[in-house]
Order: sequence, then structure tokens, then C-alpha cells
Amino acid sequence: MKLSLIVPCYNEAENVAEFQAAVINAFSGCGYDYEIVFVDDGSHDATLHNLRKLHQKQECPVKVISFSRNFGKEAGLYAGLQHASGDYISLIDADLQQRPEIVRDMVEILENEPQYDVVAAYQDRRSEGKVLSFFKQSFYSIINKLSSVKLEPDASDFRTFRRSVAESILKLGEYHRFSKGIFAWVGYETKFIPYTACERAHGTTKWNFWKLLNYAIEGIIGYSTAPLRLSVILGCVTAVAAVLYLLWTIVEKLVWGIAVPGYATIIVLILLLGSCQLFCIGIIGEYVGRTFEQTKDRPIYVAKEILEYEQ
Ligand code: UDP
Ligand code: MG
Repeated sequence: MKLSLIVPCYNEAENVAEFQAAVINAFSGCGYDYEIVFVDDGSHDATLHNLRKLHQKQECPVKVISFSRNFGKEAGLYAGLQHASGDYISLIDADLQQRPEIVRDMVEILENEPQYDVVAAYQDRRSEGKVLSFFKQSFYSIINKLSSVKLEPDASDFRTFRRSVAESILKLGEYHRFSKGIFAWVGYETKFIPYTACERAHGTTKWNFWKLLNYAIEGIIGYSTAPLRLSVILGCVTAVAAVLYLLWTIVEKLVWGIAVPGYATIIVLILLLGSCQLFCIGIIGEYVGRTFEQTKDRPIYVAKEILEYEQ
């Protein structure tokens, strides 16, 4: 039996050696083989240099895939899955917020409970602020209402699964990758276990509010066509409102003889309808843009260097 740990790294120069040491420490005497598949996601610091050193030393089996530029964590996970050779595959961050010891527990669950194919960890105590927490909860309730797949709130990418799950994920070759959606879409029996995220060992997080917002939009557009229906509904509602207003104006003129009030109403209606139309075109544009990206059929990542180890 063999376990592959897939580790996406973007500017994690100070963390990679420490991460490897933690893995060796956690898996010494575990009784099965393991390998680490590091994916350098176009880092600008000494990450690749340090990974090459780890690969040369081979204190434990280490593979390195290096991207030609930053393609994002999702692309890194995809590349890692393509190069992982284990029977069990684990996705884990390089910053030691997620302890490798937990992966050992996950493998034990998969070994002892054959009814499960995936063990996913969720954060039991989050240290983030109330505002962010509110936005995250709103996102999950919106997407779970709109989409046919159900996303588990709080479940992270930190998970371990069987080879069959990895192969199913690899069949989804979409360019815009939203991994929470992909995990939900492929299905399989999943066991959720709580974990507490540690402090980042070194460096800073790559996420900020705007990146998270973009990621949320990515999820909604990628996993639901409901926003398109929204434009149809909006169109119907404004049409009905326009007819009602027309009838009201006629009654006003005939019954009370009030002249049609003009200027302000016209300006407001033009602005309102104009913005509704732009809004709807924007929504359609999001989908057309994604179709355009996908039809170009570009690879999800470009690897400039792949360092394998001798099996
Ligand atoms: N990461 C990556 N490419 C990116 C951004 C992040 O490979 O463009 C990696 C990063 O090196 C880390 C993991 O994804 O191993 C999670 O990133 P981070 O710690 O910044 O996210 P957080 O833990 O704050 O959610
Ligand atoms: Mg982190």
C-alpha cells in the first residue's frame, strides 16, 4: 500500500523543508510506503531551489513538478493528481496549518472503514472575523439553493481518498476549476472529521477578501445556470410593472384628467431598465466567457520541469 501526499506550493520557500520533516516524523514506522508530490506553482522566491535540494537528498521519496508561471492552487492539485502513484491520495497545504499526523488518521479510517472512499477534514474552530464568516455562510446557502450538487460548508481541500476518486477527478478537465464543487460533483461516500488549523509556519496567506469573492462567483457560475434564469425573471417582472404603470397612467388621465407627468419618470425608467439590461448581459457574458476559455482547450497548467525519483 502506498500513500501520495500532494502539496501545492506558492512562495513557500521557508516551509517546504519543515513540511517534509514533519511528514517523515509523522509517517515513521507507519508500515506503508509514501511519497510527497510537491507542485511549485510558479513561485517567485526560493521554493523551487529548496524543492530541488529535497529531491536530490531523497530523505523520503519526493517528486517535484514545477509550473512555468502561477496557475493557481487548483491547477497545482490537478498536476499532483496526474503524477501521484499511491493507492491513497492526500491533498495537504505546505504551510503546516494542516498537520501530517491527521493524514495518518485519515488513512487509518480508509483502511478500517471500507464503506468510505473519502475522508475530508473541516475546521472545527475558525479564527476568522464575523464579517468573513457571514459572507462564507451566505455563499454556501446561496450555492446550495442554486446548484444541483451540495457543497459541505467548512469542508476544506484537506482530504484523503482512494485512487478511484482521484481518477474520477482527473476526468473533469475543465479549465475553471472549483475544487469544492468538483469534490461534490464526483460524489463517493465521504466521512467528515473535524480538525483545528494551526498557525501558518512561515509566510502569509495568499487569500484576501476580493480573491475569495472571485472564488465564490466562480463557484456559482461554474455549478449553476440559475443566474441565467434570473435575467428571464427580471425581464418578466419589469414587463409586468411597465404594463401596470401604463394602465395607471391611462386611468389617471381619463378619470382625474391629470396630465402625464413626464421628465423624472422617463429618466428613472431609462436608468432602471438600462441597468437591468446591462446586469443581464453581464451575467450572460460570464457564461460566454467561460465557454470561450474552455473551447480554446488550453492545458490546465504548463510544467517546465518534472523531477521524478527512482522507484
Ligand atoms: N497555493 C498555490 N497557488 C496559489 C496560492 C496558494 O499553490 O496561487 C498553495 C499555498 O502554497 C498553500 C496552499 O495553496 O500550500 C494554501 O494556500 P494558503 O495557505 O495561502 O491558503 P489558506 O490556508 O490561507 O486558505
Ligand atoms: Mg494556509
